[in-house]
Amino acid sequence: MAAKTRKAATKPRSVLIVGVGGQGVIMMSKVLALVCQRQGLQVKQSEVHGMAKRGGGVFSHIRYGETVWSPTIPKGEADVLLAMEWAEGLRWLDFLRRDGGAFIADTKRIVPPFAFRSRKYGSQPIYSPEAPREVMEMVGSGFALDATKIATELGESRAANTVLLGVLSTALEFPVEDWQEVIAQNVPAKALEANKLAFEAGRDWADANRSAPMEERLKDLPGRDDRRAAEIAPKTVQFDITGEWCKGCDICVKMCPERCLRLNDEMIVELSDPEACTGCRICEWLCPDFAIRVRRVPALEPVA
Ligand code: SF4
Ligand code: SF4
Repeated sequence: MAAKTRKAATKPRSVLIVGVGGQGVIMMSKVLALVCQRQGLQVKQSEVHGMAKRGGGVFSHIRYGETVWSPTIPKGEADVLLAMEWAEGLRWLDFLRRDGGAFIADTKRIVPPFAFRSRKYGSQPIYSPEAPREVMEMVGSGFALDATKIATELGESRAANTVLLGVLSTALEFPVEDWQEVIAQNVPAKALEANKLAFEAGRDWADANRSAPMEERLKDLPGRDDRRAAEIAPKTVQFDITGEWCKGCDICVKMCPERCLRLNDEMIVELSDPEACTGCRICEWLCPDFAIRVRRVPALEPVA
């Protein structure tokens, strides 16, 4: 068991973790709460996730200290704002302390289906235009990283939340061994190794970037023009169905605005008219069994 450090904490510290459904916000806040408890600190955690069907916002307030009375963080008092999705981070920015609060964000953007206001092929979503470089210049202390890319390179894209926990662990005062032990107790056994690597990768990333001048840290982050160029670049729709997960409920078929889905003879959904599919992702969002995955990926050839 690691040696414990107990700091005199007269005022509770506050960490706000935000993201969208399915990203592991609640798991992350549970890990942090358990690490705090190991230090003998009081912890209060509150969360909202009831409306978080994929694409919906999820947030969790964690407050810890010698004595904690309120479970919720007032505006402007979060010591750390940890965002697993870019726009969710911006939505909660008012809660971050302006005098030294740390903003830690995955630059990953999860655009909800209803951000696409037009059914026209290749239409642009209504989504926060602020680019990482602009936001990082606004906050006092911050880390913006492509945690999903780091996790994917380690072989497990779902470990992006553990990459961010690694970064968070460098911003708080708790022993690294406690983080490692609590994470090991809270991830599935088959994902343990990937999560260990992800945690270390997050710490390494933070250590390498903390001492770098801001200009150096910002140089690889996309600006607003880069984002805009990526948005208007021609896209094509990548549509995947996991047949074993489809129970043939017909919801997606009925709700597809372009009427381009159907059930086959085995009552498995299939794309009957690929040319008509706009990539709006409504079917993905509505499928109760996660059987559909729609991505708008850069087109190799310009889309007419
Ligand atoms: S198949 Fe899905 S992504 Fe394509 S148009 Fe229909 S609802 Fe939208
Ligand atoms: S909503 Fe999902 S489970 Fe239902 S038919 Fe469509 S893909 Fe299958």
